[in-house]
Amino acid sequence: MSIPYLPDAVTVPFFERLQRLYDAMDRGYARAADAYGFHCDGCADNCCRTRFRHHTHLEYLFLLQGVASLDAKKQLRVQSRAAQICRSYDRADEQGLQVRVMCPLNIDGRCILYAYRPMICRLHGIAHQLRKPGQSTIYGPGCTTFDERSGDKPYFQFDRTPFYMDMVRLENEFKQNAGLTARIKMTIARMIVTSA
Ligand code: SF4
Repeated sequence: MSIPYLPDAVTVPFFERLQRLYDAMDRGYARAADAYGFHCDGCADNCCRTRFRHHTHLEYLFLLQGVASLDAKKQLRVQSRAAQICRSYDRADEQGLQVRVMCPLNIDGRCILYAYRPMICRLHGIAHQLRKPGQSTIYGPGCTTFDERSGDKPYFQFDRTPFYMDMVRLENEFKQNAGLTARIKMTIARMIVTSA
């Protein structure tokens, strides 16, 4: 996939709105985490090894802006790691295997583009709920570490629905303004490979 060229006049206002939405997610997550007394640290089952797929052009282009902000040496490092990871996923897919590989942006246990990380990286880990029109509320579990540390505490309402809905609206508006029609489904590694 080639990266669509879009002028700043198109992207910047949407990046600003995306950052405001990310801030709201971070606040919602922090409220829930505080209610459980849950802290995401020292985790053996690091969720940055999960093969998350991301579906929005806006988040993709925002993340690439983060990659472009790294110094040249770091960019080369993450691009090389991203290419290796894509090869690992491709090999595993050919063999019908599941693999867990560390995200190319996680270096020495830390996300080096934390401010640019996509929605699922912000919401993952804590028990949550989702409301779809005409359906009963779906309750999702937290990660294994959350279950071990806080799974015995009463559920604190963490509703992802408004965040998902705002993201869908923002992405649709962005695609319309940018003249984009394709759908995407990309890992962080695949996104970074396209920026090389
Ligand atoms: S973008 Fe950052 S938080 Fe998300 S999986 Fe990669 S390293 Fe982890």
